[in-house]
Amino acid sequence: QVEHGIPTREVITTCAYCGVGCSFKAELQGETIVRMTPWKNGGANEGHSCVKGRFAFGYATHQDRQLSPMIRDKITDPWRKVSFDEAIEFAARRFKDIQAKHGRDSIGGITSSRCTNEEVYVVQKMIRAAFGNNNVDTCARVCHSPTGYGLKMTFGTSAGTQDFKSVDKADVILLIGANPTDAHPVFGSRMKKRLRAGAKIIVADPRRIDLVRSPHIKAAHHVQLRPGTNVAFMNALAHVIVTEGLVNETFVAERCEAADFERWRAFVAEERNSPEALAETIGTSAEILREAARLYATGGNSAIYYGLGVTEHSQGSTMVMAMANLAMATGNIGRDGVGVNPLRGQNNVQGSCDMGSFPHELPGYRHVADDVTRHLFEEDWGVKLLGEPGLRIPNMFAAAIDGTYRGMFVQGEDIAQSDPNTAHVQAALAALDCLVVQDLFLNETAAYAHVFLPGTSFLEKDGTFTNAERRINRVRPAMKEKQGMSEHEMVCRLSTAMGYPMHYDSAAEIMDEIARLTPSFAGVSFAKLDEMGSLQWPVNAEYPDGAPIMHMDRFVRGHGRFMVTEYVPTTERTNRYYPLILTTGRILSQYNVGAQTRRTENSQWHPEDVIEIHPHDAEERGIETGDMVSVGSRIGATTLRARVSDRVPQGVVHTTFHHPLSGANVITTDNSDWATNCPEYKVTAVQLTRSNQP
Ligand code: SF4
Repeated sequence: QVEHGIPTREVITTCAYCGVGCSFKAELQGETIVRMTPWKNGGANEGHSCVKGRFAFGYATHQDRQLSPMIRDKITDPWRKVSFDEAIEFAARRFKDIQAKHGRDSIGGITSSRCTNEEVYVVQKMIRAAFGNNNVDTCARVCHSPTGYGLKMTFGTSAGTQDFKSVDKADVILLIGANPTDAHPVFGSRMKKRLRAGAKIIVADPRRIDLVRSPHIKAAHHVQLRPGTNVAFMNALAHVIVTEGLVNETFVAERCEAADFERWRAFVAEERNSPEALAETIGTSAEILREAARLYATGGNSAIYYGLGVTEHSQGSTMVMAMANLAMATGNIGRDGVGVNPLRGQNNVQGSCDMGSFPHELPGYRHVADDVTRHLFEEDWGVKLLGEPGLRIPNMFAAAIDGTYRGMFVQGEDIAQSDPNTAHVQAALAALDCLVVQDLFLNETAAYAHVFLPGTSFLEKDGTFTNAERRINRVRPAMKEKQGMSEHEMVCRLSTAMGYPMHYDSAAEIMDEIARLTPSFAGVSFAKLDEMGSLQWPVNAEYPDGAPIMHMDRFVRGHGRFMVTEYVPTTERTNRYYPLILTTGRILSQYNVGAQTRRTENSQWHPEDVIEIHPHDAEERGIETGDMVSVGSRIGATTLRARVSDRVPQGVVHTTFHHPLSGANVITTDNSDWATNCPEYKVTAVQLTRSNQP
């Protein structure tokens, strides 16, 4: 799919895959992309790239791409290609009919972490202003919503604390539930470089990830903890820090709420939180836990990096707060080389959250019940807004099955494949009277849609993405929109047809509105981004050129707040019928549900998902590498090819979720984080049996 030729022009833009946010020079001959060259001045990548960003752009011109709006009365009818006007009128009429019959709250929508800030902003605005409710949620619900909750509760804002460069100054890296060399390759390489230079690493992961196996890196500790025991692990480390006198008392006294700290100190000091008491639960030795705690507390600059292995648990939010507690207790926050750093999965998951995609928050993480904020938006938008939170994604599905939620706008997300318990999601989607899908492809979700609006690839978009280090990067159009209209214009027209007129002459104008209404974006404009290359929010009077490191002199909330983090085991348990725990992850060449990478030359490197099983568990079941195995959980069953491997410990199996046929989410459960409903993808009790299927 890569065209060869001599480029005649180039455009600087941003990779549309992971949350590292690498800058690229898109080199073109006319309207044909010739190559993507990593840009040496890119703030996040400094000229580096990975196999996805550099080579996997062919999906933008893939034959599967849909370029025409389409409608159909019933999901069993064939699609009918129509004009944009007809598709938008059709969608608006259906949405209005649903509201007339079933009430204001019977429709809503989901924003996409793959789209630009500007595109996300207009969708949430349409839902709040034109639909008249707060039924807006984002795909961050199923990945980093606990990060948003946990960091806001402890530090006061829902974002990572450092820039990527900061890792160059770390002496100790505590890496939990993340596999950066596969999932965030350019940052993973940077971390590896620092480790080769002598920094120490503590990896907390059930699986032996590359950073544990690399011969060039001596992992100081690999805590091969049992899936679902993260909070117990953190409490054990905290117990050692508190009881062995390793607390940074000066930092805590100056920077944190005293009463909350004392409550936390007393809690973690309890004997039940000691390494000796928790080692068996965690699946490691008390000595390893004690050594890890001492190293983190006394090894110099200690930085925590984490991924979905932290958030996608029933205690995801508790775990995020537990990590923040540890950083505050040891004073590892507010300078280079330290901090609490979520490795964000999608290119714009930070941005989609910043833009007000949650049902309880307006842009800038301000609660819809806050009268001052709501009035600010009401005045600017010229419409009355609701002060009560709307539905989260799982509530939308439940309400659809109940019949009270009947219309949905889905922006660039394949919820039928990516959300847990596929059968439940499919039943919810099938129950809707109007599902509008805005996407590049007729994905699994579109099978349930009544209206299809063709989306634009990142090579056609004008706007911004915000990466994991809060860096706002420009996304510049390298080519004209192939289907003839920007995504934000389609949304504006739908909003107008619904009765709330919206129009912007450009994406820059949308950013100006975001800046006007969002204090952390107050100084952001396309002109300033073009001048500076990129900006890390907050960008305001205090930080006119942005802030690479947050919470330097004070926390955003004033004083840091310790939270008591009681370990509560997940209700998903093994038994004799389901004796193994399934956990999931990603692989370097593929990306999420694979909608893009499967349509590029990268598909040759990972043509199917496989399930890793420990040699002992495989032998017990007569399974060999290459066998097809049936994987059954309490929710459903699927078939995968087996790979016998000691990368997983005995009792744990692991698979990826890049291919729809393997349907990993057919078997994942409905369990979710207590605070945010982020699904517990990482713990599913399963049984494996050899399948008769060839
Ligand atoms: Fe794209 Fe992430 Fe690879 Fe960078 S590391 S090129 S952002 S996929």
